[in-house]
Amino acid sequence: MSRAILPGSLVNGQPATLGVMGGGQLGRMFVHAAQAMGYFTAVLDPDAASPAGRVSHHHIQTDYLDEQGLAQLMQRCAAITTEFENVPAPALMTLGAHRPVAPASDAVAIAQDRAAEKAHFVRCGVPVAPHAVIETPAQLAAVSEDLLPGILKTARMGYDGKGQIRVKTREALAAAWSELKGVPCVLEKMLPLQAECSVIVARGADGQMVNFPVQLNLHREGILAVTSVYEGAVPDDVAAQAVAATRAIAEGLNYVGVLCVEFFLLEGGQMVVNEMAPRPHNSGHYTMNACDQSQFELQVRTLAGLPLTQPRQHSSAIMLNLLGDLWPQESVKGPSSPAWAAVLALPGTHLHLYGKLSARPGRKMGHLNITGPTPEAVRATALQAAALLGIEAF
Ligand code: ADP
Ligand code: MG
Repeated sequence: MSRAILPGSLVNGQPATLGVMGGGQLGRMFVHAAQAMGYFTAVLDPDAASPAGRVSHHHIQTDYLDEQGLAQLMQRCAAITTEFENVPAPALMTLGAHRPVAPASDAVAIAQDRAAEKAHFVRCGVPVAPHAVIETPAQLAAVSEDLLPGILKTARMGYDGKGQIRVKTREALAAAWSELKGVPCVLEKMLPLQAECSVIVARGADGQMVNFPVQLNLHREGILAVTSVYEGAVPDDVAAQAVAATRAIAEGLNYVGVLCVEFFLLEGGQMVVNEMAPRPHNSGHYTMNACDQSQFELQVRTLAGLPLTQPRQHSSAIMLNLLGDLWPQESVKGPSSPAWAAVLALPGTHLHLYGKLSARPGRKMGHLNITGPTPEAVRATALQAAALLGIEAF
């Protein structure tokens, strides 16, 4: 990516257009950020009702590997990014041969595979959970007792706790592997978690890198529920270690774009890296209201080759994920949406909905950012909002 794609400029006679593979909520928020800066946007997603497709200048409605779809995306766009890590790496390779693509297909390919990802973390000198790769019956038989109890995770395509089975014994492990159809897996030792946190960095093609503060994340049933970001949420030494590790991981990939790395903080204070996402992350949604630049704005800047400046958090923040479980059942008469008016009557509440028309349990429908002057004020408001929405207190 040599020259910047300037906002509002013409590229080969067309308005400067940024493209994204995938039309989910992350793509939608990327599109919003790109449009706010004056770019045109194009989304490739097979779903006619995709959250990003609905708000983009162009929606190319084909499969991710469709040659004509990819050709159209390249014809429209000056540069292309991705919003989900399971976009087929060959599609990114095709695009990357003709247009700037960030992140590059090789970095995405590593993030798509838990075994390759862990090997990369180890190469960067960052500790990971004790684990073993299981691809063959021989590897299954050779698994050390030390890894039990553990969690068997498919190497590819897992998200929100899907594709994972907790196992206590060798027998359970064997049964779990066959339940997962014998696909390549990683068995991880079950660790005593004290907390989970994440760090988001943005790195430009010139190697310049900036980071957001460390986010404290609460998961429920394998899905992110609450992110808290304020002074003291994570001890300073842990935060410094997590930021340094994330920067090393991005550097080691020669990464271009926005990268999120998730960490486990263990009882006893040790920290290990869990996984990474080669894109903006759910735990970074608070940046939309609590920082002077959002993670999506940084995604736009890295893709367009614009300068990066260190983002500044100006407000304490808590983000509540809004899952489909919070929506009233459509069959019963009564309110058809959660108590937005009451929630928005609270100070510093910012509602973000993704335009999904049907709510299902576990489906990410939106998020609520709560900002305030102090951690105490934000926590008090967030707990009030959670109570109004039916989210369990935290
Ligand atoms: P996903 O790709 O679904 O996010 P993760 O590997 O991040 O998968 O696991 C989801 C959640 O499961 C984590 O956020 C954590 O709460 C729990 N978990 C995963 N691995 C371990 C482990 N080795 N020890 C303890 N808890 C774990
Ligand atoms: Mg995770």
